[in-house]
Amino acid sequence: FDEVLVEGSVLAHYVAERNHYDELLDELFRSSGEARNMIGSRCIWHINSTAFGGGVAEMLPHHICLLRELGFDVRWLIFKPKEEQFFQFTKALHNSLHDVKVAGLNDLLPHYLEASEKGAAELDRIIRPDDFVVIHDPQPLVAAAKFLESYPHPAIWRCHIGYPKRTPTVDEIWGLLGEHLHQFQRIILSAKEYAFDTDVPIDIIPPSISPFSSKNRNYEGPAGQTLDHSVSFNGQEFEPTPSLQDILGSRYFLHVSRWDGLKGIDRIIAAYDRFVKSALAEAYDTRLVIAGPDPLDVADDPEGREYFEECVLLCTQLSKEVRRRVYLVCISMKDHDANAEIVGRLQQNAHGVFALSREEGFGLTATEALFRGKPVVVSSAFGLKRQVVNGLNGVVLHEPDIEDKAAEMMHHLAVGYSDFEKMARTARERCLRSNTQISQIPKWYHSMQSALSS
Ligand code: UDP
Repeated sequence: FDEVLVEGSVLAHYVAERNHYDELLDELFRSSGEARNMIGSRCIWHINSTAFGGGVAEMLPHHICLLRELGFDVRWLIFKPKEEQFFQFTKALHNSLHDVKVAGLNDLLPHYLEASEKGAAELDRIIRPDDFVVIHDPQPLVAAAKFLESYPHPAIWRCHIGYPKRTPTVDEIWGLLGEHLHQFQRIILSAKEYAFDTDVPIDIIPPSISPFSSKNRNYEGPAGQTLDHSVSFNGQEFEPTPSLQDILGSRYFLHVSRWDGLKGIDRIIAAYDRFVKSALAEAYDTRLVIAGPDPLDVADDPEGREYFEECVLLCTQLSKEVRRRVYLVCISMKDHDANAEIVGRLQQNAHGVFALSREEGFGLTATEALFRGKPVVVSSAFGLKRQVVNGLNGVVLHEPDIEDKAAEMMHHLAVGYSDFEKMARTARERCLRSNTQISQIPKWYHSMQSALSS
């Protein structure tokens, strides 16, 4: 385990922009007093498996800052076993929870359990008797469960993964994880449709963003970042991407995610191919930017590099005319602020943001684009469809032939952008009201208080 130090002040920003957050702030201050009485001075430990990359790492810093400013003692631990098989197992588990059956899961299980045993022993040296434990996702779940078996503490499992259908593969995994949930008093899921069979009470808290994080803030002036390992396909061979400033100064459609087949990056590439081939002259001005973590940097995502290479291959198979407008932007995860600035600026300047995930439990990149007031086009994957109401704050594309529909949408965005402007404004307004972190904190209090009183 490594502790991540979190510093900073977020609350003052909400207060300074009170006109957007008036009711939310009232509710926040009202519920905080009650929660402080119950939670008292005990330390709340948030535990997940990565400090950079992915939705959880994105949300925790400002969530923790806010709770600290509201008078709670909150700390952040990363559980990061060195064994590669540990993350192979948790990635396979993640895929299985989306009903993608993965061979070899059972062979990897002993590695996960062994690393979890070691983790449990280490937790014993870190967590003090009265502390509160919040575990995020399956990676640290069993380490925490084994620790809690010997040393019961108030504990919540916050699972950010979700799949709205019950299938044999999905049920098998919930069964496996379910055995380790008895030590927890509450489970938090992102949607009620993700509930599974368990005796532990479930609370629902949708994903949220911080309007004041370095990712979501408004950027002005020239970009200071370079794109070291990114590739573009200008000519036969791929070559380094031009500067970030050059991309930002052009018109482009954007997709941001980890390199993962479930994110449907191949569908965006196929859609863009159809769009350019069928398009009018206007279309030629619009590039495609696909941004994700530098696959060399991400320890907890062993499949990332493989899928990135698949995407490179797909791009090299495009005709030269299409290919030279595609940029695969790989962002180093080592420097949090640099990553945030690159993604934030790309989102801020995009002509339209696409998220065509095959499955999506969470969809934070869509929330970020909605917050920016961008035209957002998503697939009907459950976590995306929950955020975007077709025609109101964005466009939802349904199966089948989603690539064709996305290509049409690219065309519409290229030639009729004004049709999207009202939706984009609505997107931002709705997001400010319902998807900022302060709107979710009273729900966290409720879960923690319920855990303490059960
Ligand atoms: N992200 C990032 N850099 C990248 C790719 C993604 O900072 O290169 C962030 C993205 O902005 C979002 C989060 O990682 O905040 C991804 O969350 P999402 O729920 O979309 O996907 P997850 O990775 O959690 O499945």
